[in-house]
Amino acid sequence: MGAGVLTPLLADAGLAVGPAGDLLMGEVPLRVVAEAMGTPTYVYNAAVIRERFARLDAAFGALPHRICYAVKANGNLAVLRLLADCGAGADIVSGGELLRALAAGFPAERIVFSGVGKTDDELQAAITAGVGHINVESVAELRRLAVLAEAQGARVPVGIRINPDVTAETHPYISTGKGGLKFGIPIDQLPDAYAVLDETSALVLDALAMHLGSQIMQPTPWVAALDRLLEVLANARRRGHAPTTLDIGGGIGIRYRDEAPMAPEDWVAAIHARLAATGCTVQLEPGRFLVGPAGVMLTRIVHRKHSGGREIAIVDAGMNDLLRPSLYQAWHQIVAVDAPEASTVPTDVVGPVCETGDFLGLERDLPEVPAGALLAVLGAGAYAFAMSSNYNARARAAEVLVDGDRWAEVRPRERLRDLFASETPDPFADEAR
Ligand SMILES: *Cc1c(COP(=O)(O)O)cnc(C)c1O
Repeated sequence: MGAGVLTPLLADAGLAVGPAGDLLMGEVPLRVVAEAMGTPTYVYNAAVIRERFARLDAAFGALPHRICYAVKANGNLAVLRLLADCGAGADIVSGGELLRALAAGFPAERIVFSGVGKTDDELQAAITAGVGHINVESVAELRRLAVLAEAQGARVPVGIRINPDVTAETHPYISTGKGGLKFGIPIDQLPDAYAVLDETSALVLDALAMHLGSQIMQPTPWVAALDRLLEVLANARRRGHAPTTLDIGGGIGIRYRDEAPMAPEDWVAAIHARLAATGCTVQLEPGRFLVGPAGVMLTRIVHRKHSGGREIAIVDAGMNDLLRPSLYQAWHQIVAVDAPEASTVPTDVVGPVCETGDFLGLERDLPEVPAGALLAVLGAGAYAFAMSSNYNARARAAEVLVDGDRWAEVRPRERLRDLFASETPDPFADEAR
């Protein structure tokens, strides 16, 4: 593996090769964490998360802004608390994330509730909690929210998420700003939304919002979409609304391999003038940018084999632990923790799950380390543990937070017997036969 590819990836994660030649996160040897915790285990670097938050925050300078972390990227309470302590708000997409965000200590007014399919129960919970905004994604949802807000006698600040009909060059499963997708209200339906707002005093149009997709590497789509959003803002003002907030969504891309993601400063520079002219507070909803590079997944090689001319390393983490390679053909850099810079052979790194799509990486440059060797899968801080499952009756991994020279378990590995402890094997046992 070329050191040229590895060096920036290690730096992004706050990883370095220590005096003994193995990988350290901060000052903590990953080997020590794996020995104590077993594998697979997710390890997050608090210092990296704080630095990335601070850099994004600073990029906005004096422009009034609020960074609402997208909880779905990584909802561990320790990660959430860290970001709440940085001053972040939270962007949530379910009632479960509302509970998580409140439990982690985010003040309700710093929470924004997004999502296309919020149920009555979820909307009611958000009204009761007093979240900062509910971002509405359809006229039908707006109508429903008006009914619920009136019933509770509440005055609810809403954001309207428009669909700007802009294509972001990313994986089709994570592109969300194009017309015809399920996300946002198409601009030509906004008159219907205004009509709902005109008929109720329970809703206040406080924000206009958009979210273009995820892992976007250039400012261009935001520039194009912002022009649409600003037209909508002008129109809303003409109709007597006074939104205080422009929510420009998340989606800021990161480096997984050898990409050159836009620097946050360049991103802000490209959109600053448009935003400043509005006099609104800018709200953003980054998930991946803040936590993605900060995490690694530790896994050990269980067996090696050769087949069809290929070198295969079977590891103890599978698609249930890290779904992104199988779901999006995503690339995650894989490094041998004890020999990060050793010479390599092309190796397929595959999981134990009974699916051909169960791999972490194919034809990877890895040293021929034996069974038992420890690997680190980089870029595993976002949409990694959060997407894990119990498929194949596999317990979900442990999670660890590293902060400088300290580390702590922040979620234990699941216990196998707990996976089925609440199930009922014989539901009709009491019935007469
Ligand atoms: C997923 C999502 C985000 C976060 O996206 P990232 O690519 O992780 O920054 C922000 N806003 C909304 C509405 C989302 O659905």
